[in-house]
Amino acid sequence: MPTLTDYHMHTPLCQHATGPMDAYVERGIELGLREIGFACHNPLPRGLGGDVRMKESELDYYVRRVTDLQFHYRGKIDVLLGLEMDYVEGLEDYLARQASAYPWDYLIGSIHYLDTKCKLCAWSRSLPFDAEEQYIRYFTLLRKLTSSGLYDIVSHFDVPKRSGRIPGPRGREEMQRALEEIARANLCLEINTSGYRHPELLQPESYPSLPLIERALALDIPLVVNSDAHAPDQVGTKFTAMQDLLLRRGCRQLVRFESRQRITYAL
Ligand SMILES: [Zn+2]
Ligand SMILES: [Zn+2]
Repeated sequence: MPTLTDYHMHTPLCQHATGPMDAYVERGIELGLREIGFACHNPLPRGLGGDVRMKESELDYYVRRVTDLQFHYRGKIDVLLGLEMDYVEGLEDYLARQASAYPWDYLIGSIHYLDTKCKLCAWSRSLPFDAEEQYIRYFTLLRKLTSSGLYDIVSHFDVPKRSGRIPGPRGREEMQRALEEIARANLCLEINTSGYRHPELLQPESYPSLPLIERALALDIPLVVNSDAHAPDQVGTKFTAMQDLLLRRGCRQLVRFESRQRITYAL
């Protein structure tokens, strides 16, 4: 897989990923990836969602570590500086400051919570509302993320399916609207291969699922393939299979990033 990039690698700073940061980079080199990028979970104010992300006081350190690795691996592989930045309604100003505080190569936008207190996980099986409401809330928030102007890449698009629950007709409708919104906003969509590692899915597949990838291709949405690695051996999960799948569906180009500029390259 000589051409792919993997822009979604975590670090132990988020408290639920393991392995030293260099081991992720080494794995990327071993796989022959073109570029790799760290995008660990961003800090939020007042300790919101604090058990699964770095602290505000750790953000400088994170940026410094990635920058050190950039120099260390120069000539072997390009290491990019990214961040997986949760979109939480009401925190737009805070997030905008985070977005402008460092020289990010790209910002990945994620919805992990269905509430502003960051307590209701988007793929929980035990929410105080039904599956239809779960999907409607999630995709409504995803549309707000998309139109916020804060992000370059939209992450794990249909992650509520990790709950094992399936959307009803309105949930499916919201899903299509969100995809169209991504096309309109000219954002990049991530094909996240971590679904192949999630046993709780009804079937092993990516986020988004294949029919949604086909729809994204029809809408000309720019794509990246990411592993969402939380351990070094997860870097590049299923990339060869995904590359084949994309080529078979007529996808001829992917995108890469540099200082938040999007650049197209041939697949
Ligand atoms: Zn994570
Ligand atoms: Zn995520």
